[in-house]
Amino acid sequence: MSVATERTTFESLNPATGEVVAEHPIHDEQAVRDAIERARKATAWWRELGWTERRTRLLNFKGALTRNLNRMAELIHQETGKPLQDAQLETVMAISHLDWAARNAQKVLGQRTVFPGLMSINQKCLLEYQPLGVVGVIGPWNYPIFTPMGSIGYALAAGNAVVFKPSEFTPGVGVLLAEIFDTAVPEQPVLQTVTGLGPTGAALAGAGTDKIAFTGSTRTAKRVMAACAEHLTPMVAECGGKDAFIVDADADLDAAADAALWGAMANAGQTCIGVERVYVVDSVYDAFLGKVSEKARELRPGFDREAAYGPITMPGQLDIIERHIKDALEKGGTAVVGGADSVRRPYVEPVVLADVPDDSAAVCEETFGPTITVHRVADLDEAVRKANDTSYGLAGTIFSGSRARAVEAARRLRGGMTSINAFAAFAMVGALPFGGVGESGFGRIHGADGLREFARSKAVTRQRFALPTNLVSFSRTEKDMERVLRLVAMVHAKRHK
Ligand code: NAD
Repeated sequence: MSVATERTTFESLNPATGEVVAEHPIHDEQAVRDAIERARKATAWWRELGWTERRTRLLNFKGALTRNLNRMAELIHQETGKPLQDAQLETVMAISHLDWAARNAQKVLGQRTVFPGLMSINQKCLLEYQPLGVVGVIGPWNYPIFTPMGSIGYALAAGNAVVFKPSEFTPGVGVLLAEIFDTAVPEQPVLQTVTGLGPTGAALAGAGTDKIAFTGSTRTAKRVMAACAEHLTPMVAECGGKDAFIVDADADLDAAADAALWGAMANAGQTCIGVERVYVVDSVYDAFLGKVSEKARELRPGFDREAAYGPITMPGQLDIIERHIKDALEKGGTAVVGGADSVRRPYVEPVVLADVPDDSAAVCEETFGPTITVHRVADLDEAVRKANDTSYGLAGTIFSGSRARAVEAARRLRGGMTSINAFAAFAMVGALPFGGVGESGFGRIHGADGLREFARSKAVTRQRFALPTNLVSFSRTEKDMERVLRLVAMVHAKRHK
């Protein structure tokens, strides 16, 4: 008779070779609660350090991460299967965000005075943004350091302690990150990593932390939000996407094809802001499709140094990619590059699809593979309309020769970020917020908004002198009120043109 025993560890695997990278503990509810308890004590200490010392510690964390860049990148390469150079670039991006958060936290969140307005001229007004306490960060595997750092770096800089639950596909990255942090902040467990599968994440979401920063699929985000409801825990949700790439009639077609291909195929298409749909203005459609297809044919997935991109990290995703390609072809689409047999587990070769109907899965659902659908549109207006016809709204790209037209269209694209004449340039910029709308989530990481996401405002007023008329006292007379109403009429009653 076999007795079911509860697993206490799990293995992280190299998706290209199937080899075990390492074994990690499955932290249960109690272990997560203990970590939060330790974090509660650490947060008080971290907060007391003050802006200057926290900044120094975080810059030292950044320094230690930079000195360990190759070690970190190698681990990302092993756990996700992505090319080593992509893993290095991702770590560089995480480093630059940590740097921005550390250097700008006091400026964005620190105490300042604000003008009280005429009616409260006797008040001194102080505004500051205080840390929330303990922030739980739940991360995905596709960018296992860049994505969580958008929450971890900013939450720490705002003065919070963090308990990080990395994806079960990339637990080692989380463990190494906390290890590196400890070298810069050895005194207290200000950043802890708990490892495990979904239930470990669920335990963190339901444990009553002061905020949950979740990055992952829309489906899981809904579950996390339900768990957060129990304690009214606020949440930032960075979820999936179905981003569009628009090519205008006067775009630089070589540059556009190069960027679209990178945006769609890099990291085997496993990018939340990856290019999934391309809308090309009629007059340049054939030329663009020709260029993008020619370049796509040159790409080869693999785990060797010359491979353009790696395997599909999560085996279950292969079925989804295959279903999307088949559905597109069955509904009348054409495979210009590759086809259904491009799925060669664990790899997917590049797939470029044309004439795919708008209601097919490849156009409506997140594919998360190295596939794109290319669509012909009459003009930029139709491109924007079609790009916006989705329940997602994360980011987008526009290639155009006209600056004014591109900026105007960029502003109309539904989603948090748009990049013009480059792919996803915003992701590298510390000062710019990152986040979605609709099924892509809510809240912002990165930038000043990203810092404020992990802080709460505190307003303090101090009366400097008493006004001749005290309106909030039982000693107020009718005459006092008449005087005030005359003043208000003088200041506010006039009509504006
Ligand atoms: P996922 O939703 O499967 O898992 C994300 C994390 O949630 C993992 O750590 C997982 O263990 C945890 N989890 C699973 N069940 C849970 C539960 N019930 N409660 C709490 N936590 C739970 O997502 P994934 O496959 O790791 O990541 C891919 C998805 O992430 C894609 O949809 C992608 O678009 C999205 N993504 C979004 C962004 C962004 O910034 N918007 C960035 C990267 C990835």
